Amino acid sequence: MLSYTDARRKVIEVATSIPRPSLRTHVEIEQAFGRILAEPVLADRDYPPFDRSTRDGFAVRAEDAQAPGARLECVGELRAGGRFDEGVLPGQCVEIMTGASVPRGADSIVMVEHIQRDGRTILLERAAKKGEHIVFRGTEARAGALLVAPKTRMGYAEMALAAQAGTTRLSVFAAPRLAVLSTGDEVVDARSTPGPLQVRNSNGISIEIMARTAGAETLQLGNVPDEKGALRAAIERGLAEDILVLSGGVSMGKYDLVEQVLADLGAEFHYTGVSIRPGRPAVFATCRNKLVFGLPGNPVSTMVTFELFVLPAVDVWNGGDARPLPVFRAKLETTVREKGPMTHFLPARIEWEGREARVTQLPWQGSGDVVALARANGFLIVGPERLEIAPGEWVDVIPRRGAI
Ligand code: AMP
Ligand code: MG
Repeated sequence: MLSYTDARRKVIEVATSIPRPSLRTHVEIEQAFGRILAEPVLADRDYPPFDRSTRDGFAVRAEDAQAPGARLECVGELRAGGRFDEGVLPGQCVEIMTGASVPRGADSIVMVEHIQRDGRTILLERAAKKGEHIVFRGTEARAGALLVAPKTRMGYAEMALAAQAGTTRLSVFAAPRLAVLSTGDEVVDARSTPGPLQVRNSNGISIEIMARTAGAETLQLGNVPDEKGALRAAIERGLAEDILVLSGGVSMGKYDLVEQVLADLGAEFHYTGVSIRPGRPAVFATCRNKLVFGLPGNPVSTMVTFELFVLPAVDVWNGGDARPLPVFRAKLETTVREKGPMTHFLPARIEWEGREARVTQLPWQGSGDVVALARANGFLIVGPERLEIAPGEWVDVIPRRGAI
């Protein structure tokens, strides 16, 4: 059986290789967060566009102030956005504000904190250094330079940069459309009252939200019973979208029919199990050139397998690169005992003591235990064949998205 890293690699490989029209669309900058850029953002002019003072102080000629104690005559004032066309002559200085253009002749800014003023006479308490507190024109970017490259995920910094360059309408790739389908005779809508042996559909919402946060547009198909005809019809509906994510019906039970129905529809299976717990029966297939994920129905399994396998596919179909799994190290607080050939993803609480991350495994009743998962803010990853890990050891953890 595949390791989770190999299964992820497989997903990325298949998602990359399937022909997909790279649809582009335009969005206003406010709507661009999380989208993948299709066309570059270029510098419309030099940045900074002028030699910019980065302090409130006095623009001076450095050669006039080689040692502390120089006295200069203040011949004017420059606010941000203001002009001073006369230039600074030897023995002169100009009062200048942060963000203002350094006047001709001056090549250094002395901070207002380091002067004494007596009318027009400015006494410099420090020597001036050439270029100090000035960012020269074009040193951040030259006009025409690439500011944000295609395939970049737009975050707040990239958006600020696009705004700075005046690119307020952005060309981005169309987000993949992802259909969410829950399966199970016993599953009822979350807004209804379940019978004593029924359960409400919680995977519908977790998958929808994980998909949307990943950058997909979602279509909610609700739940279908474990019955071939209904399942087939719902799957065919889902295959009209780019990615279909099913929950439930992929284990070994007599009424786990997802694989059979997919096979009837001509699906090609890339894996039908991964060496992880929870989530072992996870299925990944392609059908009619669409990506299909059959996630195990136990809610924690659903969430873990979405994070591990569906998310990279969404990234790739969004037009970007698959984001790496955000694994980091934390110091174990309690003893962990797990056995077997699988990699375990255990609900855990990660806290920081200063700069050091600490992790505690939370008690749980297995992969159906959403109560435990909602208390967890991450997962403790225990590799295969680890029998016991002692407190104080450094272990791998991943955050539960949005919880940290
Ligand atoms: P399955 O993967 O179909 O064998 O289901 C495993 C467990 O997950 C069973 O206890 C189901 O009742 C439960 N389950 C399946 N689908 C859902 C769902 N959409 N929401 C909540 N629990 C579910
Ligand atoms: Mg089921």
